[in-house]
Amino acid sequence: MKKIFVDKTAVFLSKILRPYAKKRLHQEMNNINYYNDGNINFKRRDAFLLLTNHSFDIDSLAIGLVFKKLPIAIASRSLLVNKANKFRMKFLARVIPKAQGVRDLRAMKRALRSVRKGRALMIMPEGEVTYFGNTLPIDKSIASFVKKLNVDVVTAVAYGGHISKPRWASYPRENQYVEIHYDTLIHKEKINELSLDEIYNLITDKLDVKAFEWQREKMIKVGGQNRAEGLAEFLYKCPECGTYHSIETRGNDIICIECNTKGYLDEYGFIQGFRFDNTVDWNEFQKQYIQELKKCNFKTTGIYVDIDYDIFTSKEVGQVVLEYGDDQLIISGSKNLRMEIKDIEYFRLTQGNVITFDYQGNHYYIKIDSLHESFLQVCS
Ligand SMILES: [Zn+2]
Repeated sequence: MKKIFVDKTAVFLSKILRPYAKKRLHQEMNNINYYNDGNINFKRRDAFLLLTNHSFDIDSLAIGLVFKKLPIAIASRSLLVNKANKFRMKFLARVIPKAQGVRDLRAMKRALRSVRKGRALMIMPEGEVTYFGNTLPIDKSIASFVKKLNVDVVTAVAYGGHISKPRWASYPRENQYVEIHYDTLIHKEKINELSLDEIYNLITDKLDVKAFEWQREKMIKVGGQNRAEGLAEFLYKCPECGTYHSIETRGNDIICIECNTKGYLDEYGFIQGFRFDNTVDWNEFQKQYIQELKKCNFKTTGIYVDIDYDIFTSKEVGQVVLEYGDDQLIISGSKNLRMEIKDIEYFRLTQGNVITFDYQGNHYYIKIDSLHESFLQVCS
């Protein structure tokens, strides 16, 4: 009984809050352009599966709001310990919380039940927002889930989201341009005729967005102040001199403090003055050196947060220093812990600067100040 009440309240809330949601959306992404390529009926009331790429933080809202009956979404539960997110996602976007980095069977069962009851379901099969620009690898299990659901598979593919709102960026762009293209990828009558591999390939081909290739053709001017800020946390190796953790940013400028190479991030999101003009190529380069990175020692500061996923609450405990070296992760300060990397599970970077992981059966959640990508690479 309680469950039904909550469900109805949420539907009601999502109705009256829709104008508010649209306004908020516009504040965060000011130039959204919708394309109904597949002649989708946005007023449809039957169940369907909506699959989308995950290129900027509030894309689920931008994509879901065009439907008169909001699809429910599966989202990482670590997002729901933040109060504003919790409200927006649990009531407005109708979210089923899922453990990040693991296949959460309970969440999938809940999703399946909702679809059986006639609700539309939105899934972002990459599981997280891309940091460098391209669509991330998609788990093969999505194909069997499509078979199980046996409803129309609709896609919404966003282009330009990463250029206009890069996940690493500390400051917003001026022109937050994004194109969202809707289409029907698989009609439910066709699902039985397709193999799992065929379904999987259809999905990955459709959701595959190469941010900088798209931008090279479109050349959308996004502008903004302090465009390079935030980038240094993700570029851990200088492509000019090979030094680790020597890249710094000042406003729009990108500098290697070791070899003094100076460049900048232009108004189109391209890097000027370095060997690579975009973060995808830069990351392809630095990824080859992960074994070397693992031999480095580095540290950052952060805030240790106690979380409870049963009731979705969080409490800041205090300052910590986070240190990596010799295959160990050491936390000291308001919490003290020395962990072997091999014992750490499900290490993830989430939101802007949060790392989450499991260790000896406990969940950990720390907001870190720098070196995000380096910690991610050595710990996962
Ligand atoms: Zn350098």
